[in-house]
Amino acid sequence: MDDRLYRNVMGSFATGVTVITTKVADVVHGMTANAFMSVSLNPKLIAVSIGANAKMHQHIKYSKKFAINILSSNQLKESKQFSGQLQSETEITFVTYNGLPILEDTLAVITCELHSEYVVGDHTIFIGQVTGVKIEQKDPLLFSQGKYRELKELQI
Ligand code: FAD
Ligand code: NAD
Repeated sequence: MDDRLYRNVMGSFATGVTVITTKVADVVHGMTANAFMSVSLNPKLIAVSIGANAKMHQHIKYSKKFAINILSSNQLKESKQFSGQLQSETEITFVTYNGLPILEDTLAVITCELHSEYVVGDHTIFIGQVTGVKIEQKDPLLFSQGKYRELKELQI
């Protein structure tokens, strides 16, 4: 099967956009990810799928904790920054929440301790035990068919 066709089909499943953040030896790291989902309510568990070649893969193995920053519609720049799509490195401000570095102006944040991990093909699924959540009144940044988009409410 052609990789481009596969990605086009997977990209037709619209998602929000997150930046995963963590800290290793006092250095803050971030990575854009849309392979994120809620897994369990009791206990509260989430999952992120991270490519084996991504640096974040090793960072989470070392730190054993991470935050999921759910981006708001005014955070296109942050998504591009943390996916390596911006040429020049932008200065990003982090604040601390539950002992983890998080971005400012996000729609929501979930802090996690590493619960378990599963190597699946060329990715690892990291399961996070949720230690804290917060949410603001903002619209989400969306990603669909390889493009960033905004939410539009439909009515009959
Ligand atoms: P790096 O390449 O080190 O970091 C990524 C970028 O973030 C670099 O440009 C770096 O300069 C910048 N950065 C890191 N830390 C900081 C900091 N403290 N301050 C400022 N800048 C910093 N990949 C997956 O594995 N799973 C996914 O679910 C996934 N979803 C994606 C969704 C979208 C919409 C996009 C665009 C990409 C997605 N990717 C995903 C790809 C992933 O974001 C990139 O491959 C990314 O470059 C991998 O980062 P890395 O961990 O190797 O770290
Ligand atoms: P794209 O058309 O490559 O992505 C569309 C969809 O395909 C994604 O939402 C994801 O579901 C799937 N996909 C893409 N690359 C994948 C990978 N390596 N492993 C598993 N699933 C993957 O969108 P784009 O604008 O070209 O993406 C920009 C970059 O971000 C590309 O390099 C892409 O590989 C990467 N990306 C990776 C993942 C991931 O690893 N899960 C997800 C999204 C984007």
